[in-house]
Amino acid sequence: MSNNESNLKSMTDLVALCKQRGFIFQSSEIYGGLSSCYDMGPYGVELKNNLKARWWKAMTFRQDVVGIDASILMHPTVWKASGHVDGFSDPMVDCKICKERFRADNIDVTANCPKCGSKDSFTDIRQFNLMFKTQMGAMEDTSSMVYLRPETAQGIFVNFLNVQTTMRKKLPFGIAQIGKAFRNEITPGNFIFRMREFEQMEMQYFIKPGTQKEAMEQWKEARWKWHLDNGIREEKLKWYKQEELAHYADAAFDIEYQFPFGWGEIEGIHSRTDFDLKQHAEYSGKNLNYVDQVNGNEKYLPYVLETSVGADRGLLAVLCDAYRLENEGDAEKERSVMKFHPALAPIKTAVMPLSKKSELEEVSTKLFEDVSANYKSEYDVAGSIGKRYRRQDEIGTPYCITVDFDTLNDHSVTIRSRDTMTQERIAITNVQTYLKDKFKF
Ligand SMILES: [Zn+2]
Repeated sequence: MSNNESNLKSMTDLVALCKQRGFIFQSSEIYGGLSSCYDMGPYGVELKNNLKARWWKAMTFRQDVVGIDASILMHPTVWKASGHVDGFSDPMVDCKICKERFRADNIDVTANCPKCGSKDSFTDIRQFNLMFKTQMGAMEDTSSMVYLRPETAQGIFVNFLNVQTTMRKKLPFGIAQIGKAFRNEITPGNFIFRMREFEQMEMQYFIKPGTQKEAMEQWKEARWKWHLDNGIREEKLKWYKQEELAHYADAAFDIEYQFPFGWGEIEGIHSRTDFDLKQHAEYSGKNLNYVDQVNGNEKYLPYVLETSVGADRGLLAVLCDAYRLENEGDAEKERSVMKFHPALAPIKTAVMPLSKKSELEEVSTKLFEDVSANYKSEYDVAGSIGKRYRRQDEIGTPYCITVDFDTLNDHSVTIRSRDTMTQERIAITNVQTYLKDKFKF
């Protein structure tokens, strides 16, 4: 990074840019917003879809991984078996004076209320289950109660045998899924880092018991590389080894990203043993054993190595990492630019006629049609060319193609690079080849 550019300093700058440039909006904003829920705007959804597509490809283009898309609503016993009904809760206290709710493990419950300063104002500590409950069918009683899934993993576990037998898979193999999950967090926050409705990209890798250490090494390496392949700077990532393990795990590593608010988990790689399959076998009464034809038809429950990325957290890391402020304080030269990896950039090229003159528009619209057949592109004719470049910088468009009056004579256009701001003169007939070379990934 050169001396005249700086990284993202505060989340406030990013939240403002995300709103102004159409990446992310507060949910239900015209009604005052809904706490910790956000909507993807036109560029946000493109960026997130590109990220999800990269993950899906990295997983399901492998010989040993297949995908599924399970239902959000599941049989309520699934969550008894998984441990979520009894164990998925946070300790909570309320202030009796100001009614603010706190996680009891985040504050000193013997001290004064951090919000209103009252003394001895806390209720007793209660366990608060983080699952959202809703009703299924017309009857509103406990027998019709279902949950919005708090994780996508269980949809994979309950389909283990369906997938294994229909796909004729032998161990080791994985099942990948991208989907929404819901947690009624007591204290959500930090923009899209901790939301109550979020999206996960999870892959459960089924292995022979005893091979979990080598599977862990293999997937740690693959998953670290994936983040680097998305253009995330390696010095912004670190491993965190969980010492206090969840009840289902025998080893757990997280990949953390250095956000402006501190290091935060973006992916977990967890060795889940046979806990989940064993629980589902017991609660469902079904035999979920794998028949190992390679090893004399030995029957056993596979172990599971899980890789789980928060799609929204991954997106937030991509946004934070791409942000640069260049020539700060220089009225003429200052620009903020989103240096997305070209594969992730929501818009790949912008075609810009220098003016609205009809002879330029004719060439430009034809060029736009050609380019946008292959790349998500924009046609932008409004405002000065400088302003248009700045706008494309802020949404992270790698290349702007300008059609000017010389184009009418030399049948060439100017292609401007987002990152270097250098300009090249390219014959219109060579534009597709030029872009094909630039977007090779
Ligand atoms: Zn209070």
